[in-house]
Amino acid sequence: MGLATSRQHKDVASPKSLMTISLVTSLTLVAMVLVLAWGRGNHNDAAETEDGRSLQSAAARELLLQTRELEGLAAAAPRNGQWPTLPDARKFTHVFVVDIAKNSAVSGLKEFGQAADYKPFAPLLKGLLAALRDDSRPALRGALADGGVDAASEQATTNVGAYIALENVGYAASIVAIADLGLDAAAARVNGARVVALVGLRRLDSEFLNRIASNAGIGALGVVAQPSGDAGLASAIVEGSGGRAFFEWRADRPGDRLVGQIGTMLVSFAALFAGLLAWRTTTGLVDSESKAKRLAGHDLLSGLPNRLLFTDILEIELEKIEEQGGALALFYIDLDRFKEINDSFGHEAGDRVIVAVARRMQETLRATDTVARFGGDEFAILQPNVKSLYDSEQLARRVLAALREPFDIGDNQVRVGASIGMALGPADARDGEVLMHCADLALYRAKTAGRNRFVVFNQTMVAQHEQRRTTEQELRFAIDNDQLVVYYQPIVSIDGRKLVGVEALVRWNHPVRGMVPPSEFISLAESRGLILPLGEYVLRQACKDARLLGGIRVAVNVSAIQFRHRNFVQTVENMLAETGLDPARLELELTEGVVVDDADEAENAMIDLRAMGVRLALDDFGTGYSSLIYLRRFAFDKIKIDRSFLESVESTGESAIIVHSVVHLGRALGLTVTAEGIETPEQHRFLQALGAHELQGYMFSRPVPVQQIIAICENNYVMPPPIPVYPDDEVKTAAPSPAPLAGAA
Ligand code: C2E
Ligand code: CA
Ligand code: CA
Repeated sequence: MGLATSRQHKDVASPKSLMTISLVTSLTLVAMVLVLAWGRGNHNDAAETEDGRSLQSAAARELLLQTRELEGLAAAAPRNGQWPTLPDARKFTHVFVVDIAKNSAVSGLKEFGQAADYKPFAPLLKGLLAALRDDSRPALRGALADGGVDAASEQATTNVGAYIALENVGYAASIVAIADLGLDAAAARVNGARVVALVGLRRLDSEFLNRIASNAGIGALGVVAQPSGDAGLASAIVEGSGGRAFFEWRADRPGDRLVGQIGTMLVSFAALFAGLLAWRTTTGLVDSESKAKRLAGHDLLSGLPNRLLFTDILEIELEKIEEQGGALALFYIDLDRFKEINDSFGHEAGDRVIVAVARRMQETLRATDTVARFGGDEFAILQPNVKSLYDSEQLARRVLAALREPFDIGDNQVRVGASIGMALGPADARDGEVLMHCADLALYRAKTAGRNRFVVFNQTMVAQHEQRRTTEQELRFAIDNDQLVVYYQPIVSIDGRKLVGVEALVRWNHPVRGMVPPSEFISLAESRGLILPLGEYVLRQACKDARLLGGIRVAVNVSAIQFRHRNFVQTVENMLAETGLDPARLELELTEGVVVDDADEAENAMIDLRAMGVRLALDDFGTGYSSLIYLRRFAFDKIKIDRSFLESVESTGESAIIVHSVVHLGRALGLTVTAEGIETPEQHRFLQALGAHELQGYMFSRPVPVQQIIAICENNYVMPPPIPVYPDDEVKTAAPSPAPLAGAA
């Protein structure tokens, strides 16, 4: 929430309290934005506005971090009635325990001042405290009403922060309200109130200001009592109930120097301050607030903290653990079907899903948890105060369940789902970066294990990660050293008797592991940038081999990454020229993934390829979200019905209906319809009856070395008799017996 954060437990959060706090926040931010806009108006200098933004962002971040730290202090407070030493990083000038209802200090904190020192600050902080007091969540309200707190109640903290100025001295103020802080009983019960706020004030000294300045990438920053007010210089004042302060810095940009002939170019922009902001006005805030959010380390779309801020918070929590013990859990979350939604329903719909996902996650979490968006469809959660692994597993389950429910986007309902990787600090790692890596490895596992699940990190994943890296290196070597082999699987006429084409399928002849199937290295190749040389190798080999195969078509699988590469069309053209293959005999099998990211680009490439005479097939038809859309838009020659439908054709009526419709649809659009994965005579008969054009499957032949295809071609393309995939007419079970790679025998 920008300068102020408010963290709410879902059971006790109330719209009203949120409103109040966001009002304070928004008003502060609006004030800052207005001042900024004003300054900009005077100067009309883009560079300077940039500076102002960076400054605002850095100042807000600093404040947020300070507030988090104060919160850590509050959480640690009850121990032995002793306040722990404050971390050095953000030195507070004053820390007070304040009675929220009375806006007076119950006590000062040791060396951080006496209760009496609070007095001059009271009017400046009035508004902020009012926001906390108006919090209508049961835990706080009950406590205020009867002076007692249900010991079992959730620790419900709310925090806010603002820059204030007292007698021309600026302060960063953080306030944390505590419902069930087990404070020293005597202190806490003074004046009959058990709800207190911890108020931390830090003077805007040079250390603090330098940190902001260096984060903002601007020159020396100062706080001045009065803006310089020179003619032509911007200055800004935000009046408050007694305080005013100005951030001022020397703009050191060439453009500024030009403009600022007067010498020094001072751009003032001011901050002030919550206490003085009256409860009025509502409209027009949203825009400014969201702007400020982005500036303050938040993701603009979802309003959640971004990666940068999240990392800072993680570091702070880990430091806290280092000093005080305890544990935290870190979750990496990836949405399962986001890309498909984006693609099928448009980016706007995708954005709405992101916003809804963010909201659902927040509703699922506790007040003390932090959820961030890392960009795209990646999120992260930090769960502090973890008592047992079970706590964290429960959280993961809740998040999964929440994201499994459908989302409404316009007239459509979509299902998203998520995969989660989880790691524990300090058990898995003490260092934030390492811990994030652990969670990432766990997420990788969750995704490869079929998504829609959570996986807890364990050290074996590091070894497996190493293994993948080794495999990657070996694969690199394999591509350059002829360890890849291309097999061909026959595509046959609908009666199963004639060879009409082949599909090139790559294998890796590994010196130790033997023939490795593509399922074990294609995705690795894709993620490690090896798919380009690999794909090129297969394409070249297939074009070369094709010349030995009479007049039949040769189909080559093209990975989306490969297809999207800007030289792809050129590569194909070169390959055809190099091998002298008739383009009409080459067929490229594409999947929907090909057009996911840039449909226009894909369309252009497809038009070029077709102009060359190359044929295009849509592979794995029916598995994606939006095949129909693609079919209408893109000029395919062929569709290949995915094997998964064939597998269940006999067992589920639904599959049969889908296959039925797809065949008819394909025919109606004038496309060749190929069914792959034919294993049984029943499947064969079924597709024959539906009117499919071509068949492919183990029943007719597994993928085999090129010599065997040559033999069929030489025999007038007559296929050898079908091989029973399930001998003895045994009832077909879900999957065929794991066959050795065809032709390897
Ligand atoms: P795909 O394009 O769907 O290829 C068909 C896969 O189904 C092949 O597996 C084939 O052996 C298998 N198959 C064919 N008939 C049957 C059947 O009756 N029953 C069963 N259970 N399976 C059958 P393979 O060779 O393991 O290839 C797997 C995937 O790897 C391919 O799926 C394709 O996506 C990818 N792939 C293979 N070669 C290449 C390549 O050169 N480049 C790229 N980018 N991907 C490739
Ligand atoms: Ca294929
Ligand atoms: Ca396929």
